[in-house]
Amino acid sequence: MNSILAQDLEKEYKAIESKVIEWRREIHQNPELSNREFKTAEKIAKHLTSLGIEVQTGVAHTGVVGILKGQKPGKVIALRADIDALPVFERNDLPFKSTVVTDFKGEEVPVMHACGHDTHTAILMGVAEILSKHTDKIKGTVKFIFQPAEEGPPEGEEGGALLMVKEGVLKNPDVDAIFGLHINSQTPVGVIRYKSGGTMAAAQKFVINVKGKQSHGARPWSGVDPILISAKIIDGLQTIISREVELTNEAAVITVGKITSGVRFNIIPESAEMIGTIRTLDYDMKALINKRMKEMVPALAKAYGGEATIEIKDATDITYNDPDLVTQMLPSLNKVAGENNVQTQKAVTGAEDFSYFQKEVPGFFFFLGGMTPGNTASFPHHTPDFIIDDSGLLLGVKALTEMSIDYLNK
Ligand SMILES: [Zn+2]
Ligand SMILES: [Zn+2]
Repeated sequence: MNSILAQDLEKEYKAIESKVIEWRREIHQNPELSNREFKTAEKIAKHLTSLGIEVQTGVAHTGVVGILKGQKPGKVIALRADIDALPVFERNDLPFKSTVVTDFKGEEVPVMHACGHDTHTAILMGVAEILSKHTDKIKGTVKFIFQPAEEGPPEGEEGGALLMVKEGVLKNPDVDAIFGLHINSQTPVGVIRYKSGGTMAAAQKFVINVKGKQSHGARPWSGVDPILISAKIIDGLQTIISREVELTNEAAVITVGKITSGVRFNIIPESAEMIGTIRTLDYDMKALINKRMKEMVPALAKAYGGEATIEIKDATDITYNDPDLVTQMLPSLNKVAGENNVQTQKAVTGAEDFSYFQKEVPGFFFFLGGMTPGNTASFPHHTPDFIIDDSGLLLGVKALTEMSIDYLNK
């Protein structure tokens, strides 16, 4: 454990908190949608440059990467913050609430940091400021990755973690491990929650096309009913979850979210289309579910005299916390938050594109409390009432700072 820095850093932490909160509020008031984070990127780049950190801009469109070399050689740790906001109307009385309106798919929409990425950005700016003053004690290199478009790039565009990885963000210098955090509106300030292994789900999208034979609604025997086949398929898919997947290992979800078929009450249509999502937390389970869906869909359709195809596309992979890295870094979290405030948590079936970094290098992604302690009404992410208590941010700064130093000095 590295205690050399403890006392210097206590002073630094005290000094940085008000700055981090101020940055967060400025960013909160000026939110920008995915792949359009121009002003946010400018602010980050300006800050990193002022600290003497080597800066790359325009990474994966609007991403900013800072490289801070310690005075001694060693490993490379990457720290990631996502920087984009959402088309959500902010409904509260905060003095720094967003009133921004912008164009989204040809429509005017309100914009809000309704996932808390403003806090991630400000926290990482704070970590950069502290670490930049301690290069004499850093053994190795810290890479600050400010990532655009975590919520997904606009249709027809690439973006986010996947594009950053494609553009080589984990290379030159090659990253050994990566840390990231997500603020949480329903976890009290001061608390850190984590899970080893599959933490957030892989999200996949599927499209099923069912082909039957059109007939009069009064004469089903002269046709093949694609709506009935769709019902059998939906039922069959749920048996994969309930009967074939070892649910005590990890959770898994198949959801059919939309069915399109038919024109009127007395016609059995020619075809049906279903689209939906698959959520998994374990690579083997993901492979099994995909394989069984591909077998079952055409087989069930055939059993009822029709045909069906299924196409499955990856949207985001599993946010998988490397168990050894988690074990290695827990003492750092315990040190900053206190053991009682570092808690394990259940898996989340939502998805996070941090997974694309973790696919390349071991990573640890954890959740940081952002709910005012004692609050009884807290609001979920992506909703108009979402709110983060920024007294929780300093713990995020401390966690990422200490984890980086401890990892590099091990
Ligand atoms: Zn989000
Ligand atoms: Zn988010």
